[in-house]
Amino acid sequence: MLEQTSIIVACPECHGSLQPGVGTLHCPACDLSFSVNDQGFLEFMRDQTYCEKISTTEEKAGNQSSSGANRVDDEYVMPWLMREPFERVLDVGCGVGRIISKLAAAGKEAYGVDLPCLAGFWSQDENDPEKFFHAEASRLPFPDDYFDVVISMGVIEHIGTGKGHCTLPDDYRRQRQQYADELLRVARPGGRLLISCPNKSFPVDHLHEVKDMYSPDTLETRIRDRIYRRTGMNVHRTWGKYHLLSYGEMRRHFCEDGNGSIFIPLPLKGYFGLTMFESGRFKPLRGVADIYFNKMPRIARASFLNPYVLAEIRK
Ligand SMILES: [Zn+2]
Repeated sequence: MLEQTSIIVACPECHGSLQPGVGTLHCPACDLSFSVNDQGFLEFMRDQTYCEKISTTEEKAGNQSSSGANRVDDEYVMPWLMREPFERVLDVGCGVGRIISKLAAAGKEAYGVDLPCLAGFWSQDENDPEKFFHAEASRLPFPDDYFDVVISMGVIEHIGTGKGHCTLPDDYRRQRQQYADELLRVARPGGRLLISCPNKSFPVDHLHEVKDMYSPDTLETRIRDRIYRRTGMNVHRTWGKYHLLSYGEMRRHFCEDGNGSIFIPLPLKGYFGLTMFESGRFKPLRGVADIYFNKMPRIARASFLNPYVLAEIRK
């Protein structure tokens, strides 16, 4: 049915336009064909077995069903988006795609890409196959300078961790640079990016486990893992090779080595740091956390005092 659609996608290799065929899109320049999968979504992945190698995406999709994640969309992402006029948005690592659906309902042109592990969630939620695509974050099927806004939250710390969620190969920095360059490529000049991940400079992470199946079994890892099992807090190193990024590393990828022009550390107010204090073992700390998250002075945002990297980048 692709002949009748108005799908605007480009070849992820050469970024040129694609010609529709029966159930496929074809790039004449690269002689590559991209087809619709069993669930009805276009496939741009080079490696179809990618999902078997990673475990975080489905987990992330599951987390997005939580009310906390929903509140981040409503209380953080949507107000940030609405601060400036925009029409066309891309969410890279969109998970189940809730922001896309909200933006579509608001009359915006919103697209999402994620890995094929999401196909089940997408078809179950009846996501629009003209707006949702399976693609790698570092190889996007869109033309240059196309989006007013590109969002990619909780993704960069998983780029270059093909084996497990925290084991880094030697070239992980190069892979992350490729990802940053690709997000900047599809954003229009003057367009905005919203990027987030837990801050490497802050010594505690509650979003990622201490080890994966490839982590070396050292005394340090065993102690950290025990603390994590008891408290939910991953106490980690704040320097050197680690899968999280600091503000400095994020700025380097996007604005020093990449062609982003402005890097703004954003306030935490409304971000999901607070939802972890609403129930369970952290609830007694709610009052303190409230003050800490909502009143953090601007100057501390990009420091080790901030548990999250939340950055607005201007192309
Ligand atoms: Zn091509």
